[in-house]
Amino acid sequence: MRWLTHVFLSLALVKGPSLALRPIDDHTDSGKCVGEFIEGNSPFVPERYFLFLDLDPGRKNFQGHVTIEGALRGDVDWFALHSVNLEVNNVKLNGSAAVWSLDHDIGILNISVPQGGIRGNNDFLAVEVSFGGVFDQDKGVIMQQYDESDENRWVIFTHLEPISARRVFPCVDLPKYKARFDITVKNNFPGRTVLSNMPIYSSDEYAIRFETTPLMSTYLVSFVVCDYAPVRTGIDKDRGRRITSWVPEEMKRKWGTRYIGSLAPQLLHVLESYIGHKYNLPKLDMFSVANKPGIGGMENWGLIMYQKDSLMQGKRSTVKDMERVIFTISHELAHHWFGNSVTVADWCGMWFQEAIPTFLHGHIPFKHSYDLDMVNKIKWLARKEVMRDECLIFDYSGPLRNLDDPKADKLFTPLHYLKGASLLYMIESLVTPNVFQRALQSFYVKYNDSYATEEELWEEVETAVGEGGVKGKRKAPKTLSEIMEGWVTSVGHPIVVVNRKENGQLSLAQRVCLDTSALIVDGDWWIPISYTTSSDPNFVSTEPQRWVEPEPQDFQNINVTLEDDEWIIFNVLGSGFYRVQY
Ligand SMILES: [Zn+2]
Repeated sequence: MRWLTHVFLSLALVKGPSLALRPIDDHTDSGKCVGEFIEGNSPFVPERYFLFLDLDPGRKNFQGHVTIEGALRGDVDWFALHSVNLEVNNVKLNGSAAVWSLDHDIGILNISVPQGGIRGNNDFLAVEVSFGGVFDQDKGVIMQQYDESDENRWVIFTHLEPISARRVFPCVDLPKYKARFDITVKNNFPGRTVLSNMPIYSSDEYAIRFETTPLMSTYLVSFVVCDYAPVRTGIDKDRGRRITSWVPEEMKRKWGTRYIGSLAPQLLHVLESYIGHKYNLPKLDMFSVANKPGIGGMENWGLIMYQKDSLMQGKRSTVKDMERVIFTISHELAHHWFGNSVTVADWCGMWFQEAIPTFLHGHIPFKHSYDLDMVNKIKWLARKEVMRDECLIFDYSGPLRNLDDPKADKLFTPLHYLKGASLLYMIESLVTPNVFQRALQSFYVKYNDSYATEEELWEEVETAVGEGGVKGKRKAPKTLSEIMEGWVTSVGHPIVVVNRKENGQLSLAQRVCLDTSALIVDGDWWIPISYTTSSDPNFVSTEPQRWVEPEPQDFQNINVTLEDDEWIIFNVLGSGFYRVQY
């Protein structure tokens, strides 16, 4: 077919040198996190995808072709690609027809490796797959009519996080398997706009080809077809990038769109100065999705999707509405550094990928955030949204790092965003804000264009604290990794119970706050205790002065004795994620 030849001739011209990626085997897939094949890593490691899609809005389906270049490691009889709800028509290995089978039940395309030749060489392999798929309501390729009175007013967009890239093209659909993507969409859409992660490389009557992406995970692949109007900010000359909001034509003059169009560059500048590194994609499109319940936004790299009311507000919007808009925009922008560039090694670590952008939102200054103190607001929201439910609702969400119940729909709850961010604020109060900022900066420098685990984040914090780490320098009883293990793997949160003897001596114990019908689970928390008293009132310092050890039944003497008329308040500014029972 003419267009296909044309596409690949053009793409060959933009092929660049291969980028080095952290070896896949630095981390081993447990087989227990969302979307994994089995225990152990994939023998086929993609480096580059050439993806072509022919979208048919009339039939609500698509035909596609993908060439995946990568390396096949080890002497294996077969390897697998993720493939869900796709019909596979043809598979080739290095240009020769391959033997393959599709397991629809578990969503795997098994491909046999012929004897000799490519086996065991850790060498180049090109896998070509022709396939077809269908549009969906809420994952994969989505088509929505956004004006009920006009069936011609529709948008096509994607939502692939965490494991729906496999509904759009066969791939190794796990976050650490990063590759570069050359995306081409057949030009079936005269008069409409087609967007993707990167700027258009070339466009003609046959196809729209986009520039090669940076190394990124499959779940960040994105494209859009729409008849929206652009709301542009000027090109930021210092940084050479353009930010464009895309909204339905009739919404273009709404006050909120203009306001947000000007706000996004300011929020980016604030985040850039905190992290110390610039947004480094050539453009940013912010796309308003007509109706995507359940998401405020989705951080597709270079093409962020927003639920309509997360991007568009009118003159009558309340401060609360605008707060939510700013929260969502700054959160999605922060994913540029943490999520898109530094990505979780596996979905079991999802919580810290959501916690860091939520934490960073707290550090957006007041003038941009509509609120005097976003840090305290996020802590307060965590108490309201998470602590209540952890105590009252059986099987609320499990622990932050959840290996036992790997369901995709449990990855995106207030637990991961708000409790996760609260734990980071707790660490910040232990090591001081400057040190924690330095730790996040070095975490980014070390793992950008790559993947990381929460253990590696703790290591960066220990390094930023200096020689001796939190144990040596901050008088913590354990290393940060040992302290955080209980917070990340335990269900619920602790209640610190205060006991005051007649002589004024204080002791503390920890209890687990859980629904009474749940099994009794021993808490396993090292709890940092800050306090202030009437004889030495200080409502600013959140530095821990004592620690409660993980011995749930025992009251622990904290060597504090109060006078008869003296009061004490624990957990200054709610810096620790626990409640206190006096
Ligand atoms: Zn997020």
